[in-house]
Amino acid sequence: MQIYKFIVNKPTNNYICRCMAQDGLNMDIQFLPGVGPKRAELLGKELGIITVGELLRLYPFRHIDKSTFVRIADARPDMAYIQIKAKVTRTDLYGSTSGTGAMTPGNNLKFNTVRRMSVWVDDGSGQMEMVFFKGIKWMYERLKAGAEFIFFGKPSTFNGRINMVHPEVDPTAGKPVAGTIITPGSASGTMTGVYTSTERLRNGGVTGKVMNRIMEAALTRCLGYVEESLPEYIMLRYGLTPIHFALRNIHFPKDLNALEKARYRLKFEELFYLQLSLLKQKYIRSREARGIAMPRVGEAFNRCYHALPFPLTGAQKRVITEIRDDMKSGRQMNRLLQGDVGSGKTMVAVLTALIAIGNGYQACIMAPTEVLAQQHYKNIQKFLAPTGVRSALLTGSSKTAERREVHAGLEDGSIGIIVGTHALIEDNVIFRNLGLAIVDEQHRFGVEQRSKLWRKSSAGAPPHVLVMTATPIPRTLAMTVYGDLDVSIIDELPPGRKPVQTIHATESKRIAMYNFMRDQIALGRQVFVVYPLIHETEKVDYQSLEEGIEQIAKAFPFPPYKMAVVHGKMTNDEKNFNMDAFAAGRAHILVATSVIEVGVDVPNASVMVIESAERFGLSQLHQLRGRVGRGCEKSYCVLMTGHKMSKESKHRIELMCATENGFELAEEDMKMRGPGDLEGTQQSGLPISLNIASLAKDGLILNAARAAAEAVLEEDPTLTSDRNQLLRKELRKDKYQVKDYSKIS
Ligand code: ADP
Ligand code: MG
Repeated sequence: MQIYKFIVNKPTNNYICRCMAQDGLNMDIQFLPGVGPKRAELLGKELGIITVGELLRLYPFRHIDKSTFVRIADARPDMAYIQIKAKVTRTDLYGSTSGTGAMTPGNNLKFNTVRRMSVWVDDGSGQMEMVFFKGIKWMYERLKAGAEFIFFGKPSTFNGRINMVHPEVDPTAGKPVAGTIITPGSASGTMTGVYTSTERLRNGGVTGKVMNRIMEAALTRCLGYVEESLPEYIMLRYGLTPIHFALRNIHFPKDLNALEKARYRLKFEELFYLQLSLLKQKYIRSREARGIAMPRVGEAFNRCYHALPFPLTGAQKRVITEIRDDMKSGRQMNRLLQGDVGSGKTMVAVLTALIAIGNGYQACIMAPTEVLAQQHYKNIQKFLAPTGVRSALLTGSSKTAERREVHAGLEDGSIGIIVGTHALIEDNVIFRNLGLAIVDEQHRFGVEQRSKLWRKSSAGAPPHVLVMTATPIPRTLAMTVYGDLDVSIIDELPPGRKPVQTIHATESKRIAMYNFMRDQIALGRQVFVVYPLIHETEKVDYQSLEEGIEQIAKAFPFPPYKMAVVHGKMTNDEKNFNMDAFAAGRAHILVATSVIEVGVDVPNASVMVIESAERFGLSQLHQLRGRVGRGCEKSYCVLMTGHKMSKESKHRIELMCATENGFELAEEDMKMRGPGDLEGTQQSGLPISLNIASLAKDGLILNAARAAAEAVLEEDPTLTSDRNQLLRKELRKDKYQVKDYSKIS
């Protein structure tokens, strides 16, 4: 769960007055019983919660069922929070030096010298140790031998024995205790929420139990002030519970069924409004934003198409049809093209560009790096040859004379297709009639750069935009991040691809790995060796790269072996020289940093060795692996790691060895890291923070919510009907004031 972070202001007089007035949901939480100014300040600082309204929207990330007890004999350290009912049998106190044995409690025992208290309890099925490091005196005086208590906590192990550290303790007699007295289905319920907490909150006395009490008070006093935020017809149509029921049961579920209903309602609502805001923009754009109508396919397209050395895959054909339909519609195309590495996006880009040409417009193809722009430029030449369309390359390192010529060609329209980097959108680049912009790997372009591109249009309408990405974004995320873009997916690789075998190896296997490389080279293949260079300026990275180069040079001496090197500190000429040498087969090994991550196409390379693979993210690893397996030979990817790895790194490496499916990996990546962190979305980010729904886990609800939003807009695109006034009002809230993505992509 993500918490919505608010900016916490110091209370001003004005502010305090407002709170004193106790106006419903705006009431300061300090006035709730059990809170007070100190805890209120803490909650404000730690969780950004100031008002009761905000408190009610702090949803628990888990619930505890206090109606069931676990027998000590059945307790396992891998269990989540459990509840045990047991009698105290013995209490041991330990001093500052552990291992010296128990202290003897007597009348003059000084509690400030006690460091640890261990309380042994027995429930008839077995014994368990409860361990306390703090508040020992207080606990010591209550946990008398022979008395029965309910202990609530997370089981763990120490020295092979199961125990609980700092459990919550309740007496079983005297006052009602959930679990023994209350049965499921009764009004007060048997489940309580567990809320995000911090060390400071716990130290400040805001324990789980206290949170539950505060929440109960907030619900009792203020739930009545919460207004329904979904129109009744929507609730009826989709079987959603009213907001009062949802809020009460998300905090104190009556039973599991009620909890499910509450969760569903809150998640649905969140995703529904998110989709509604995005789709509304899309709708406005498709109605209002005029686009350049490109009715023809054109001669150039046909010539290229008929000269293709291979038939297009079904997925490529489908995507081109989708693009064609957009371009001839008279509305502006805003399409995201997703396709795994090697799925043949370049081909689609070329044919799309040729449609623009066929209608008398120019097209530009932008890549994130010079190397990639050059690769693209080179790759598309063979496809353009039969068409006679003039193309050119423009990058930061284009020479002045060249540049002048290209500028002139763009201005007079003699250059039809221009490939380049950011240099393409400098202010002095003027197009005669730009009709299409293709952006490769869009996430590397800043928002500013994309909007500049937008302004390049001179046709009286914005150019069509096709954004290509090889970072497979899970569909659920694409629908949200690019909610107002249309999405095309190439979900099929060209035929004849052999799967890439992925192997994990550690340092002890290095010699064997070098032998394997030699065998492959002897078979006429080529090998990539990639080093992490996450921070281009970091010295350590270069050191490991330099050491790596030396090591390989020693293991693969010249003659007969030839090695090419490409890294970020080289000049472009050096980079190109080395890259060309490898691409043309003049070098056996290409040692590189992750600059080759995207786009580089050397079908004869059959081995990808990734050094320090644990330092790469999942999608980066996948991109790198996609550099091999493009020819007809069996290919391999070797992931070299250290012996010690974090749990996450291990998981990543295992996943890489287990699957080659980019979408599967992306889904997993998102589950592991959360969508906000997902590569390729860092810059675009999520339009709003989600409070309860998870894009990784709630795909089904998202689909339902999107369909619901579509249905609403279908019936009432401008949300003017009476029953949709509530929707309008909600959308006016700050968090839905999403910037218009269609204008920046
Ligand atoms: P990516 O989607 O990663 O940009 P590319 O466009 O670079 O993929 O294509 C990868 C390789 O597959 C290229 O060598 C390209 O020529 C080839 N290719 C593309 N489409 C097809 C096809 N339909 N059949 C066979 N090979 C194809
Ligand atoms: Mg590509």
